[in-house]
Amino acid sequence: MLRKAVRTLLRGGIVAFPTETVYGLGARVFDAQALDRIFEAKGRPGDNPLIVHIADYTQLERVAARVPQKARLLMKKFWPGPLTLVLRKTREVPARATAGLPTVGVRMPSHPVARRLIRALGEPIAAPSANISGRPSSTTFQDARRELKGKADMILKGGASRIGLESTVLDCTRRPFQILRPGFVTLEDLKKWVSVQAPSFRRLQAGPAASPGLKHKHYRPRYPVIAMPAEYLNAEAGSLMKRGFRIGVLLFRARVLPNSMMIYRKDFKGNMKKYARELYASFLQAERAGVDALVVESVAKSGLGTAVMDRIERAGGK
Ligand code: AMP
Ligand code: MG
Repeated sequence: MLRKAVRTLLRGGIVAFPTETVYGLGARVFDAQALDRIFEAKGRPGDNPLIVHIADYTQLERVAARVPQKARLLMKKFWPGPLTLVLRKTREVPARATAGLPTVGVRMPSHPVARRLIRALGEPIAAPSANISGRPSSTTFQDARRELKGKADMILKGGASRIGLESTVLDCTRRPFQILRPGFVTLEDLKKWVSVQAPSFRRLQAGPAASPGLKHKHYRPRYPVIAMPAEYLNAEAGSLMKRGFRIGVLLFRARVLPNSMMIYRKDFKGNMKKYARELYASFLQAERAGVDALVVESVAKSGLGTAVMDRIERAGGK
């Protein structure tokens, strides 16, 4: 399968593959036409840059120029893993990959299938998440297949993604470094090694296209997602069901009684890693169950909760 995937990529094809964050839809980063196919397959806006995935430091030097020492320190601490570093790009990286930006987002994934694929190809792979633009990301082979509907030339299998949310994106071209997208590697984790500015949605929007992806719709299922803290969740769910809506609930600490109008229910029982890991899969399961709305318990925005709430709020259209 791996050799077939490499041949497909070398012919300009696009291949979906598992990573520890979410499934990716990849192409050769140096093949601008293959990159076009990714944007087309996903319906992805052209101003939303792709993350470049590498397997070793020789590949890093091909895509990133002038890597700050502090960024190298973070690579040593967090790679391979769910941290994307935004760096000055080399001339070799086509503008298509970075949406015309002078910078490139680079990550070294830890998933064995992703690593083997990049190693076997022998060069970096540009890959956004394996889903139609605006939809929840795929975190399992089955979801990637259902979501991509034959648009990828091939999908590699690799079990459910261990993390389930996209990587943390850190802009290393500004001082202090700035989080552009929260993820599994938290602000607290990064602060142990470098000075970092927390994500500020307002500043990101005002800044000169710092993280273009932020203005687009993201992670949205076909039904409304309503986020509620535990203490209001029962009342909200009850009032929706009384008005005749068939709902789903995602619970973290709240307790709710079964109800015939509650057709999907998942309890993460206070386990934040599980919440992160199964959030997108739950969104898609609730959709297949046919819910009219999903009531989702909100959590404190600290540690991993920051990334979980970022995805929940954007799924809800915030
Ligand atoms: P996705 O691959 O769908 O998870 O999206 C990748 C995201 O990474 C984009 O939406 C951007 O927010 C971010 N990103 C990638 N490359 C850059 C870059 N050069 N500068 C800023 N943000 C980037
Ligand atoms: Mg995505």
